[in-house]
Amino acid sequence: VRPHPWNLGLWQGLIADRARLPHALLLHGPAGLGKRHLALALAKWLLCEAPAADSACGRCAACNWYEQGSHPDFRLVEPEAEGQEADGEAGKKGGRYITIHDIRRLGEFLALAPHQGGWRVVVVQPAETMNAAAANALLKTLEEPPRNVLLILVSHQPRRLLPTVLSRCRKLAIAPPELSTARAWLAGEGVAEADAALLEAGGAPLLARDFAEAERALRREHFLERLAAPSSPALYDLAQEQQHRLAEAWGWLSRWLYDLLAVKALARPRYFPGQALHLQALAARMPLAGLWALQQEISQAGRWLRHPLNSQLLLESWLLRYAQLQEAEHG
Ligand SMILES: [Zn+2]
Repeated sequence: VRPHPWNLGLWQGLIADRARLPHALLLHGPAGLGKRHLALALAKWLLCEAPAADSACGRCAACNWYEQGSHPDFRLVEPEAEGQEADGEAGKKGGRYITIHDIRRLGEFLALAPHQGGWRVVVVQPAETMNAAAANALLKTLEEPPRNVLLILVSHQPRRLLPTVLSRCRKLAIAPPELSTARAWLAGEGVAEADAALLEAGGAPLLARDFAEAERALRREHFLERLAAPSSPALYDLAQEQQHRLAEAWGWLSRWLYDLLAVKALARPRYFPGQALHLQALAARMPLAGLWALQQEISQAGRWLRHPLNSQLLLESWLLRYAQLQEAEHG
């Protein structure tokens, strides 16, 4: 496990001196930048019995245990898997919350002496999925960290963490790479036409790789076609087609509305530059207040998107309101 190329600078800094590693590290930044991967690489390196200059050896007993998921001095705490959720990429990572039970088990683990006498490493990811009780329980560990323990929190949304938790971590921001770095990496992953996916992913290469997947690219094209020529019946059908991929539909619709508002303000579309002509024509027909209100509502829905009461109804109501924006102006 080597970190992704754009994280190598951070990586070198982290492994430069074991003695200077903090008790707790927070890797934060947008999704799709390889934060989890970086955390796991650091864990493996710290546990390795004979690390090479810049990575774990991959051959020692510790590396073998680690690779089999059975290193006794390592814990990965993630939301408990509930199986695949229905809403596309947001559901892939399994369950919803890291609970107090998870953190208590962690406390029990840390109360014991290290199995191998060396480092113990814990990765908590994504840390913002700790509920309040779990975060408070973790705080106790952060306040009295055992020796030779590295706690790595990974977070896409550090502002959702308790300030008291944040203040006890050394924070390391992971930022999207240069476009050329991202393109080169994606090309190596077999993604030829990476730019549209990178734009949609806010420059995050791992997310862009998922976004470029062929079936999804087809769904996206279809979705954008429907948005570009909105009619209530077609958008009603679209809501049915996408009802099990609410997060995906939400992403496209909210970016589309963002671009419509940008074009209405005489700026260039940010996410869908290839659709500039459609966007201009639609923006001219749609009332600003209505567009703005819908964009605000959809943007706020992003917070509870993974747990909607009824994703089909929700998507229907958004898409039909969108269709009515142009019809209202006409009628
Ligand atoms: Zn090793």
